Amino acid sequence: MVLVRIFIRCFFVSCFIASIVLAAFWVRSYYVVDIVRHLSANQKTLQTQEYLVIVNRGRLYYCEDSMTYDQADGFDFALAADAEAGERPGTSWTFERPFDEWVSIMNPIPWLTRLGISANRSSESIHIDRARPAPPQRLGDAWEVGVEMNMPIWELWLLFLIPSLFWTFCFLRGKRRSQRRWETAHCRKCNYDLRASKGRCPECGTPF
Ligand SMILES: [Zn+2]
Repeated sequence: MVLVRIFIRCFFVSCFIASIVLAAFWVRSYYVVDIVRHLSANQKTLQTQEYLVIVNRGRLYYCEDSMTYDQADGFDFALAADAEAGERPGTSWTFERPFDEWVSIMNPIPWLTRLGISANRSSESIHIDRARPAPPQRLGDAWEVGVEMNMPIWELWLLFLIPSLFWTFCFLRGKRRSQRRWETAHCRKCNYDLRASKGRCPECGTPF
């Protein structure tokens, strides 16, 4: 019972923190682009796999990109070019100036589209104009990756905000109730009439 209570409290506290963090990133997304990138490179299969979470202009993108090279030369060259642009295998978090993205949706899922969410494998791409020089295998100073999913940040924010508001409401209501009981000389915890008692509540033992 105590564990359940702790779990519920942790859940609401997490929602509360997440809603604050998301709101901050929402505002921030109009000034800088946050890019969390994980790049893995497999020397044996000559394959690179890239996962990206991008926050830009009020939207959150999840992207995946993989490349398989015919020859070890090409693979090494691509990695060296990535390294030159400051991108090495592993996880990194970078932020850049906001970019104007273009996202083309070929086969949208209707009910998700109505929510402004686009989840569609490999038919979308995001076009990124980077502040820093792009690796030579990419076009000009632009960079294109496949978008797996993108959605407005405010929807995610709302998802965390609603439980937070509910929790705040319950908390304030509990506080007001305990205050009201105290003012009318009743136990804060069990509402027992304390007018004839001293020190502790005879019903539940709560000191007052
Ligand atoms: Zn009591």
